[in-house]
Amino acid sequence: MEPDLTLYENLLEKKREEILDSLEVSKESVKPVTLDQASVGRLSRMDAMQAQAMAMAIEQRRKDELIRIGSALKRIEAGEYGECIKCEEPIAPKRLELIPTILTCIECAEKKG
Ligand SMILES: [Zn+2]
Repeated sequence: MEPDLTLYENLLEKKREEILDSLEVSKESVKPVTLDQASVGRLSRMDAMQAQAMAMAIEQRRKDELIRIGSALKRIEAGEYGECIKCEEPIAPKRLELIPTILTCIECAEKKG
């Protein structure tokens, strides 16, 4: 029996929409820190910059995730989805449901460390 790829396709599409939504929301928080010397002291300016750096790191992670989702969708199209990129064995469906962008089976993932 063929694996039901539409399930994973839907999961990936949904995840992509969620990320695009949150990227839209976080645009505000990654605006350059305004250096208002009069009202903002040195310490709180550092806080603001730290918060901005964190927001940017989160946004970067979301963008990385979007790239992974895109390549997972390409793998579905190419008929390669669900195959471990290391040992080429099928990845457990439960694992794919949990992390639809995963590229390796559990055995290879554990070997890595
Ligand atoms: Zn493997």
